[in-house]
Amino acid sequence: MSSINNISKRFALILIDPQNGFVNDGCWSRMFPIGQSIPILETFNRIASFLHSISNPDSIPILISQTGFSHYDRQIFEPINNELSQRKFHSITHTYKPHTNLSICPGVQQWLNEQLEAKLDIVIGGCTITSCVRDSSIQMKKKFPELNFFVDENLCAARKDNYLERCQRCLERYMNYALPPIEQCENCLKKDSNQQIISPVQLAYQQMKDAGINIIKNSILINQSL
Ligand SMILES: [Zn+2]
Repeated sequence: MSSINNISKRFALILIDPQNGFVNDGCWSRMFPIGQSIPILETFNRIASFLHSISNPDSIPILISQTGFSHYDRQIFEPINNELSQRKFHSITHTYKPHTNLSICPGVQQWLNEQLEAKLDIVIGGCTITSCVRDSSIQMKKKFPELNFFVDENLCAARKDNYLERCQRCLERYMNYALPPIEQCENCLKKDSNQQIISPVQLAYQQMKDAGINIIKNSILINQSL
């Protein structure tokens, strides 16, 4: 059984879709009301700081997925790209991910096999928690049960609405139709009700934990290991 204490100074890092399209006036970001993608922007900046803080970049293999945006939206968020290119990360693998499941993207199985052979744990960051991070981490764990996967809460994000706790009915509205909670929903507001109130983000973390994924915060990783 793995724990955060098992992460050694060496680990492998997966960054899921850290692209311009998800932040600011990017094409995905524009599909939602203004401000919804702010948690993702904040997380991308934390990823850049995290990359900057890694003391042994030459021994950290990185896998980066990019989803099917075009032009500027497709590019890696600049502060992250700067860290990747200016520091000595020797092993960076890119893959194209046209859906939510990284485990079946070109080169990913081979990359995971290499990490398994090198006995490295896998730290995962990127977006979004409720979609690609959730699906990809669960599918990778299914294919590679021997690998330890650590999804890092500080390095992952979703859009703002998905952090809102909601009633079962509003949660189903989201799960089935990606709809926001019903405005002024009485059940969502009733914190004392017996029914479970949970956010899509909390649900996604729960599903990852149930699948055997470790959920951590990177402050622990930095303090203990780097
Ligand atoms: Zn509700």
